[in-house]
Amino acid sequence: MEICGSPSPFDCLLLDLDDTLYSPTIGIGRACKRNIEEFLAGKRGVSKERACSLRVEHFRNHGSSLAGLIALGHDVHPDEYHSFVHGRLPYELIQPDAELRELLRSITQPKILFTNSDRQHAKRALQRLGIEEECFHRIICFETMNPHLFGDEREASKTPEVVLKPSAKAMETAVRLAGFPPHRTLFVDDSERNIAAGKAIGLRTALVNDNPCGLLSLSNMTSACVPRPLVLLCEGWKA
Ligand SMILES: [Mg+2]
Repeated sequence: MEICGSPSPFDCLLLDLDDTLYSPTIGIGRACKRNIEEFLAGKRGVSKERACSLRVEHFRNHGSSLAGLIALGHDVHPDEYHSFVHGRLPYELIQPDAELRELLRSITQPKILFTNSDRQHAKRALQRLGIEEECFHRIICFETMNPHLFGDEREASKTPEVVLKPSAKAMETAVRLAGFPPHRTLFVDDSERNIAAGKAIGLRTALVNDNPCGLLSLSNMTSACVPRPLVLLCEGWKA
């Protein structure tokens, strides 16, 4: 593969899923926040308003509400949380994206999905986008980063650490599983916190946003801001 006539500087792509492969404006994120707040309200016995501020606090201090609840000693299994928060999402809002599908298929380097979401959510979102799971070399998701939260090991610690982007441990896990040098790996995500963590571990990064004027040359970049849809990011990547 070449970029504008030059060999690609990347051997591997690490791609975020939510709000990266589809737009944040379609309503999935909003529905997800609502579900999290309902879960928190039920679990903690707090008002709607308090659940909203708790969600923000947990995200800021622990990376997610699930991580916050576990850190505070609440007995919550990840499957219970994910089936409530993701299992009830209006997936019909995610529309098939043939352009993205073709783009991903045209990129010959290994593509790895790297998401904080659970595997079932990743599968359903990809299915709705019309992108085959096989398009990805592998999927690194909640279960991949947190095997210690499932099975017998869970009993070993009552307050286990939940590993999620943007923690260094999550980034190290992704780089190790990807199997390519960080400086030859392009990490694409819509979160500034995640992108900063990617840079810290030596990944080359692209922050996705909705600015249609944000496109810039990828040939020599170590960091960039690129617009959604992802197809614009990679127009120059086709061999
Ligand atoms: Mg995202």
